[in-house]
Amino acid sequence: MSTATCTVKGCNQNGPHRHEEHHPEPAILDTILDHIGNTPMVRVNKIAKAEGLQCELLAKCEFFNAGGSVKDRIGKRMIEEAEKDGRLKPGCTIIEPTSGNTGIGLALTAAVKGYRTIITLPEKMSQEKVDVLKALGAEIVRTPTEAAWDAPESHIGVAKRLNAEIPDSVILDQYANPYNPVTHFDHTAEEIYRACDGQVDMLVAGAGTGGTITGIARKLKALCPNIIIVGVDPHGSILAQPESLNTTTEGYKVEGIGYDFIPEVLDRSLIDRWIKTDDKESFTMSRRLIREEGILCGGSSGTAMAAAVRAAKELGPGQRCVVLLPDSVRNYMTKFLNDGWMQANGFTDEVMAQEQESKH
Ligand code: PMP
Repeated sequence: MSTATCTVKGCNQNGPHRHEEHHPEPAILDTILDHIGNTPMVRVNKIAKAEGLQCELLAKCEFFNAGGSVKDRIGKRMIEEAEKDGRLKPGCTIIEPTSGNTGIGLALTAAVKGYRTIITLPEKMSQEKVDVLKALGAEIVRTPTEAAWDAPESHIGVAKRLNAEIPDSVILDQYANPYNPVTHFDHTAEEIYRACDGQVDMLVAGAGTGGTITGIARKLKALCPNIIIVGVDPHGSILAQPESLNTTTEGYKVEGIGYDFIPEVLDRSLIDRWIKTDDKESFTMSRRLIREEGILCGGSSGTAMAAAVRAAKELGPGQRCVVLLPDSVRNYMTKFLNDGWMQANGFTDEVMAQEQESKH
């Protein structure tokens, strides 16, 4: 390992890190951790047609990972790399500030390997995530959603304090850990490239830490030089560029994407275009993905798909747009999956209202 720029084709990432070969899933798995990665790519038929798209629209369904989200990939990888480096040893405690899914990925890996896990997570995040985390044996500390990222009471601030207090504790730090983007470079991007026989014209993904979009974009830009990378950012977040797109810092309900700071692992130079989205279009699109395509995804999946149907209008026949769907509806059973919640929050769109009407 050296600190120089990586020479693996397309990586160019500074700082020490290792790469892995990608392999298909074995027929019999040693543990459930072997069911992380190799997720299905599904053609999105009715929505593409209804939106008048000429290109092929494909969904990379990350909710089929063992813990239910794209973040299982980094949960497993960050732990295994820390073990290889000797930072993580039997008896250590893993502490991580997260919007929930990284916590689930870490807690799942920790459950299999036997580490204690403490997750700090903002109040905004769903009870469903908390219950899964607890069932996996994680200890949870809730923090105020409105706390600025660098405030001592934020999920990041509290994790740092616990790390100072608890002996043999480690923060793997998804915001700065090179294996966050590297695991998507090695695997997620490789899977997309192989599934598409090397032809990907557009990739659309939201950004939280930005690890997913950064890792995928690095590899696909090297392999498909004309690809357009579209970043998706909710109104209320400041990740999009140019800055003039970020017109408000008001809160929003979609979980897992957007921030009030730029995470170290997010390389915005790789993003060709940013699209801003709101809660209503996100949740109504998630409900459409479920109702029309049978794709049981979460809220940020609706965000990415809502942006994709806008961005992919510029593609023509024979071209291909891949959209990353990060997590499952399991995390939101009492939220956007619930008609009463949708109505109470003013997110029920005309189509859903008519459907409900016709049932009575
Ligand atoms: N969607 C959801 C539901 C998430 O939990 C996350 C992770 N925060 C993302 C999208 C974004 O992933 P990344 O952190 O890799 O940008």
